[in-house]
Amino acid sequence: MTPHDTADDGTDAEPKRPVWLIGRPVSHSLSARFQNAGFEALGLPLRYIARDTHIDELPALIAAIREGGAAGANVTLPYKEAVLPLVDRLSPTAQRTGAVNTIVRVGPHVEGHNTDVSGLSRALCEHGLRRRAPERALILGAGGAARAAVITLDQLGARHIFIANRTRARAEALIEGLAAHTRATLSALSLDEDAGHIPWGALDVLLHSTSLGVGSHQGDATYEAAARRWGRLPWGAMEGLRVVYDLVYARGEPTPFLRAAQEGRRPGHDGLDMLLYQGTEAFTLWTGRQAPEEIMRRACV
Ligand code: NAP
Repeated sequence: MTPHDTADDGTDAEPKRPVWLIGRPVSHSLSARFQNAGFEALGLPLRYIARDTHIDELPALIAAIREGGAAGANVTLPYKEAVLPLVDRLSPTAQRTGAVNTIVRVGPHVEGHNTDVSGLSRALCEHGLRRRAPERALILGAGGAARAAVITLDQLGARHIFIANRTRARAEALIEGLAAHTRATLSALSLDEDAGHIPWGALDVLLHSTSLGVGSHQGDATYEAAARRWGRLPWGAMEGLRVVYDLVYARGEPTPFLRAAQEGRRPGHDGLDMLLYQGTEAFTLWTGRQAPEEIMRRACV
């Protein structure tokens, strides 16, 4: 990779090796803030750099990690599934999920991991699912994050998981890949056409994992359109909900999905704690060190 990829503050004798965030868009991401706070707290010669990446660049970036040009990477939307065939080995969770969010260099190999599953699991347990397993859960979206959500809910003991997506075929493909790895019954639905097949009143968990409106702010046309879209969900019918969780996060304002949930009187939590927990686990995979979680948490807000 080119010299500008190696970040250096200009004063350190030891140059800092990059850890990349590979995705598009990446400008809204908080990962650089808290990962760099963690690296600095432990005096590690690493610098986390968000790289806005075209899909054609993926093979070269993974090859560069293999050659030691970067210490590792996070992978975010929309590439968590696309990097799967590019890595040399998969962790059992990445294999099961069919999605990679963390890449680690081990000797001459690059390994794909999925820390979204443990990050989401910890967050959902803290929001009440540790005490009682979910019965019927609905996931909105069928991308890489939804894959992690299915595996997480299954591990937490969910009996029936509905996956509703704009493109039904993608939800069906997700189920096809995951059904052999899950005990829960999985159902694929179209977000717009199959609302009548969702048992709204019997749902106890609702997770949002689409990228609609991501990175927008209250008042933006995109934000307001996304909030209106989610405002059309039948919130009043969802009387059994115990947990509403948005994998999307925002600093200092509700996400469009959570604003709609609040207006529907079903308030929930955003994905900031999941972000932190998947990030601290990735930190340990890259560095072999326990992440300074409280320092990293403070850097998120
Ligand atoms: P992805 O693989 O690109 O999937 C995007 C999903 O959003 C797909 O289901 C897609 O539907 C749907 N979508 C996109 N535009 C839409 C629209 N206009 N209307 C309805 N649905 C739309 O992305 P991902 O990796 O799953 O990530 C999804 C979100 O989760 C991102 O915002 C990401 O930041 C967040 N996330 C957060 C964490 C965390 O730590 N908190 C971790 C992972 C992900 P189609 O299939 O029809 O295109």
